[in-house]
Amino acid sequence: MLTFVATKNLGKLDEMQAIFAASTLELRPYDAYAEVIEGERSYAENAELKAAALRAQLQAAGIHAAVLADDSGLEVRALGGRPGVLSSRYAGSEADWPARRARLLAELGEVPSVRRGAKFVCAMVLLLADGSASMGYGEVAGEIAAAERGGGGFGFDPIFYYPPEGVTFAELSPGRKNALSHRRRAAEALLSALAPHV
Ligand code: IMP
Repeated sequence: MLTFVATKNLGKLDEMQAIFAASTLELRPYDAYAEVIEGERSYAENAELKAAALRAQLQAAGIHAAVLADDSGLEVRALGGRPGVLSSRYAGSEADWPARRARLLAELGEVPSVRRGAKFVCAMVLLLADGSASMGYGEVAGEIAAAERGGGGFGFDPIFYYPPEGVTFAELSPGRKNALSHRRRAAEALLSALAPHV
């Protein structure tokens, strides 16, 4: 089923295409997708906003297809769950990713590893062409590393340490990250909610 993805983040798009490769959804970017201003309340609400925006943009272009959107973030326990739903704006909209990661490491300072717990969270929404919606939610627990490690992934991956494998997300192969990520877990929840309908 042809499905357009509401993102301009190529790292995220690659991951979603790999995660859904074995499903009946055929994921494509929509180059003209105009991003929406995200809210501050919940991942689910933001994923719905993105999906609805892309659906409206596709309809205006005369395209009737399914739409997939996700909203994700990093929640750091010692920071009371920040940056959370505001992750993409952490350290200001002008900051680049090295600056955001450096800022988060600086904010945590010398906090010891037992108190550096964090989780990645993802809410994912699929809107079918008939307007029906399904949602999945996923999270994965880890810690904020003492320093950056690894060159893979995107965003906060180089400082997200995953104890079960003893590496940061940026040190995992793309296949391994996609097997255990918050995005994978959200996709699985979404696909099981969807199973009776497709
Ligand atoms: P959004 O879902 O596009 O609003 O972005 C959420 C922010 O959280 C992104 O800008 C990210 O870089 C960060 N984030 C979400 N998922 C991941 C991930 O899998 N790895 C690293 N950072 C992530």
